[in-house]
Amino acid sequence: MAMIEQYKQLLKDFVAFQSVSTDTQFQPEIQKTVAWLQRVFGQNGFSVRIITGYDNPLVIASFVYDPALETVLIYGHYDVQPAKVDEGWASDPFTLTEMNRRLVGRGAIDNKGQVLVHMVNVFEHIKSKTLGYNVKFMIEGNEETGSPLLEQFIASNSALLAADFVLISDGEISGGKPNIEVGFRGGLNSVLTVKTSTTDLHSGLYGHSVPNAIHELSKVCADLYDANNRIVVPGFYDDVDSVSDDVKKANQAIPFSLEEHKRISGAKILLTEPGIDFYTQVGLLPAIEVTTIVGGYMGQGFRNGIPATATAKINFRLVARQNPTKIAKAFEKYVRSILPAYVDFTFEFKTPYNASKIDTKNKYVERAQKVLEVAYGSTPIYKYVGGGLPMVNSFEKALKIPSVLVPLANEDCAMHAANENFALTNVEQALRFSALFLGK
Ligand SMILES: [Zn+2]
Repeated sequence: MAMIEQYKQLLKDFVAFQSVSTDTQFQPEIQKTVAWLQRVFGQNGFSVRIITGYDNPLVIASFVYDPALETVLIYGHYDVQPAKVDEGWASDPFTLTEMNRRLVGRGAIDNKGQVLVHMVNVFEHIKSKTLGYNVKFMIEGNEETGSPLLEQFIASNSALLAADFVLISDGEISGGKPNIEVGFRGGLNSVLTVKTSTTDLHSGLYGHSVPNAIHELSKVCADLYDANNRIVVPGFYDDVDSVSDDVKKANQAIPFSLEEHKRISGAKILLTEPGIDFYTQVGLLPAIEVTTIVGGYMGQGFRNGIPATATAKINFRLVARQNPTKIAKAFEKYVRSILPAYVDFTFEFKTPYNASKIDTKNKYVERAQKVLEVAYGSTPIYKYVGGGLPMVNSFEKALKIPSVLVPLANEDCAMHAANENFALTNVEQALRFSALFLGK
């Protein structure tokens, strides 16, 4: 069977598991996914260990081909974001569907489809005796919940994970050229709840005489950025390094089409800081995004109650030396300064993690660069990524090995959204890269 057919077949099986880690009702599906991975690796000659005790099980599969060769540790995750067909999917999200030369399904690129590119190539190299490295796969099940116990697992299992370098493919390709990722933002998640009365109050009997929780919460959420698109929280930029001219120049050289950006995002405007290009803004500068607001009556018709409470979920993306816990404290202080004394509030934050910077001066990144050039027919871009990948810090700290980060997904892959997809052109390029990179 041609490799692409084998790939599609395995991806269909992999995507069919609803391995959603953000909701405990999917636990049976998580278990099924792990059993499937164990079987697939076992059938291809790997020795497999299923590690429990660190939240969802981790799958560690290793294949020693020749002790004289170096070892690559390939990281991936089998858990996915939730998906429901009525969220705008053209077909059932857990049935891999091929349409318009795209493989569509939850996990098609995040991350089942990407880690599978490396799996099928390693399997093929084993069969044809052309593997260039000994290989360990580490596939976890809590990436979408922030991998809370992964750092601890890596730190206490350095012998099991021992390798010469890490290979990770878990992102999108920007600028129409292959990418090597060189930095990731840190961040944290938080929940802000305001309370203005003990119970919702009749808007006829009380309207315009009592505070309204939604109005008060909106005061915080509405003005997080000033006229220059800078975050207004005092102290927020204290530990943000200014971006060097070299990095700015390199980012400005990455092909960027405003029209294409509008097409992919559906947004009508680019809201970067004055004079800052898109890649510098999302890769090297911090952000605060209110991602959820809940309050008041959401049922049919109208209840006309003045809400007593309202809640916002707020996501922070941080850079450089910004300390997530310090930022959370600064934000809480800011909220206190904005809200009037008659408003009570609680502010909780979770999963703080630091930004990461990737060392690119090593032979593994050099090899990736050369192979990408051959596989894609153009010179790779070194890219600062807006998202986070905190385990890179753990690999560096605990295993003392470098990471090579090569994203494989198309830029319009709809990660975390409806109709997540892996464009077949990108699948073909990805398979070519992986075959060359992992071969002799
Ligand atoms: Zn994800």
